[in-house]
Amino acid sequence: MSKKSLTVVVPAYNEEEAVPSFYRELMRIYEGSLKEKLDIEVLFIDDGSGDNTLSEIRKLNESDDRVHYVSFSRNFGKEAAIYAGMENAAGDYVVIMDADLQDPPALLPQMYEAIASGAYDCVGSRRVSRKGEPPIRSFFARQFYKLMAKISQAEIVDGARDYQMMNKKVVNAILSMGEYNRFSKGIFGWVGFRKKWLEYENIERAAGETKWSFWQLVMYAMDGIVAFSTAPLVLSSVMGIVFCIIAFLAIIFIIVRTLIFGDPTSGWPSMACIVILVSGVQLLGIGVLGQYMAKTYLETKNRPKYLVGEAKLSDKEIM
Ligand code: UDP
Ligand code: MG
Repeated sequence: MSKKSLTVVVPAYNEEEAVPSFYRELMRIYEGSLKEKLDIEVLFIDDGSGDNTLSEIRKLNESDDRVHYVSFSRNFGKEAAIYAGMENAAGDYVVIMDADLQDPPALLPQMYEAIASGAYDCVGSRRVSRKGEPPIRSFFARQFYKLMAKISQAEIVDGARDYQMMNKKVVNAILSMGEYNRFSKGIFGWVGFRKKWLEYENIERAAGETKWSFWQLVMYAMDGIVAFSTAPLVLSSVMGIVFCIIAFLAIIFIIVRTLIFGDPTSGWPSMACIVILVSGVQLLGIGVLGQYMAKTYLETKNRPKYLVGEAKLSDKEIM
């Protein structure tokens, strides 16, 4: 049997400090325990960084012909970077790793063994703790996963990272999901296949800082819900029905009361409250609808998920 190869896809956005140490650590593990069994390709995706990330990557590319890269014309987001990496990967297996060493390369040999044995198609990783993360962030993250488990068909595991190794079958399945609004955690779960989970304690970033503010995470969570569940639409229809029933009962009550007690002109404050409440609920419903519409709008444009500014791959060169 010929030697198989592994492509390590590394999305990097403003990671000038992290890139060199990531490369060193990855290669240390590779030389130590995978070299005999596997060839390696390290594919950096520079997601339109504004710092020296690209020149750090170029340096590595010049000194090591196993290092390739794709550089975007601007920042397209990690999801697009993952897609680009999987699309351009030359290896039989693909693994996705953050540049900040929060995804421990030490797990690679274990991941490889599980896939090479043929018992699994992909091996994912999940953090069993969120040590070092702000408590409110952890709290909302947990609530999000609980909610998703209830309202979505895709299996989205709490603490699951994008750090996972896949064989070609899974890579092709994921690439076949050509949607523009990519929520990788959902996509990885949706495709299924035989998946093994490895668990580890959270590791804090090696250098640089996180690209996510709290509000970005909130928006990301909303994207995830819209992408993988239609429950909010159902909920607003149900709310509409409930309000209709309440209104109907109230009308009957008012008619009966007027017939019995006459019609004194009072009760406008309660009327104002009802008007505000109901119009609020309507706006909420329209807003929910709008969220889905907006996503549909973006999908129908069929825009490319990313644009390449410059790339060096094993077989081709785009400048
Ligand atoms: N990243 C990216 N594009 C972005 C934001 C982040 O490619 O727009 C990369 C980033 O360089 C890192 C990985 O995605 O390699 C994870 O980002 P980060 O560490 O900021 O997220 P966290 O670990 O805090 O969830
Ligand atoms: Mg990180």
